Amino acid sequence: MNQPIQIYNTLSRTKEKFQPINPPFVGMYVCGPTVYGEPHLGHARPAITFDLIFRYLKYAGYKVRYVRNITDVGHLENDADEGEDKIEKKARLEKLEPMEVAQFYTNSYHEAMRLLNVLPPSIEPKASGHIIEQMDIVKKILDAGFAYISNGSVYFNVKKYSETHQYGKLSGRVLDDLLANTRELDGQDEKQNPYDFALWKKASPEHIMRWKSPWSDGFPGWHLECSAMSAKYLGEHFDIHGGGMDLMFPHHESEIAQSVAANRVEPCNYWVHNNMITINGQKMGKSLNNFINLAEFFSGKHPLLTQAYSPMTIRFFILQAHYRGTLDFSNEALQAAEKAYKRLLTAYNILLKIVPAQQTDAELAQFIPAFAAKCHEAMNDDFNSPILIANLFETTRWINGLNENKFSINKTDLDAFTHTFHTFMFDILGLTNETAADTTLTTEGLMDLILSIRQQAKTNKDFATSDKIRDELKKLNITIKDTKDGATWNME
Ligand code: ZN
Repeated sequence: MNQPIQIYNTLSRTKEKFQPINPPFVGMYVCGPTVYGEPHLGHARPAITFDLIFRYLKYAGYKVRYVRNITDVGHLENDADEGEDKIEKKARLEKLEPMEVAQFYTNSYHEAMRLLNVLPPSIEPKASGHIIEQMDIVKKILDAGFAYISNGSVYFNVKKYSETHQYGKLSGRVLDDLLANTRELDGQDEKQNPYDFALWKKASPEHIMRWKSPWSDGFPGWHLECSAMSAKYLGEHFDIHGGGMDLMFPHHESEIAQSVAANRVEPCNYWVHNNMITINGQKMGKSLNNFINLAEFFSGKHPLLTQAYSPMTIRFFILQAHYRGTLDFSNEALQAAEKAYKRLLTAYNILLKIVPAQQTDAELAQFIPAFAAKCHEAMNDDFNSPILIANLFETTRWINGLNENKFSINKTDLDAFTHTFHTFMFDILGLTNETAADTTLTTEGLMDLILSIRQQAKTNKDFATSDKIRDELKKLNITIKDTKDGATWNME
């Protein structure tokens, strides 16, 4: 793997050669979920996008420390620092402890990620566990003169910051436009300017999640947690910061301003954003009644779904589009993805059964290394999974030909072919062989049945039958072992 990886940087708006600060180590921070509801498609896309990047960077030899946080405090209902904390609101409605809500939906999120075969991150820190680190940043920003205290809350002074820095460099927003697009301040407002954002909020009397601070009993602003936790685990300046495009403004823009104000350094070298998902051409949203959560996709139990879709169908569907492209979910598109994924699996499972010959046909001998090179090329070009999948499909012609004895292949070439296919399909795209999993389940069921018949024979003192079952299974390389808790089996 000598070619460099090209990565699209939202900040420069170009593809850049990926050069880690301290190779072979790579630090990657991705904004994780706010845990106040069931995980849905909007959670699946960033998780799968950064899982793909995590897997490929590791495959390329990097030692990646991947930090993906859990937001369990401080995310208010709207971006203007108003409204209730999302988790507290849910807790009030369901008469639960806020941390009970956070734990419940964290568990749901983990289960959905496991089903989607998303690898766990290296560190999964929670905002509520890093209040001291967040207060330290507030102090630093106040000391640097880029924040002000107002009625017990602390706000970032965007106007002051903009005199020497470019607030809006990531999202491309201009301060004057921001002013024009935000409502006028009323006389009651604590902020000096509508675009200032909260670093610390004084808690109202009924607010539950609160901590003592020099400014008030309160809680941190939402943008602060990611600045605090990324710096704690990856250093003040690290390699990659990722998240959904919807987080670019104000969340990521504010993270840059906080880091520069507190540490005089930008948080990272590469900003990576995945595009959003629409459903039948419409934005997803609770009010539009098209909010389908992942468990509903897996069970098919939602009025908009005509059938259930397996986790691997969802994963394959997401990977069929490049992460920076838009993606529209519909039953037709999902059914097409299901078919395509099964076709690839079938091809792979046929490849596993091909018997090698003495010689490889010349054309096929050329195809196998070219196939590997094209797979690498696709992934090196900003993690282009749709091109990679197209390359995998190109193998089906050869695999079907081998299966019909139109071509021949020797053992070395067959091993190389299978290895490349396996590496890119399972290790890098992170798909699983769902049909193989089904086969395993069937085998286990059959073995349970056979062992119970043998046990019955032994109980009836019909040792001829029980020995015959044992001996015949032995010929199939299945060993039966009798223990005091019953028989166990082992396949070689
Ligand atoms: Zn974040």
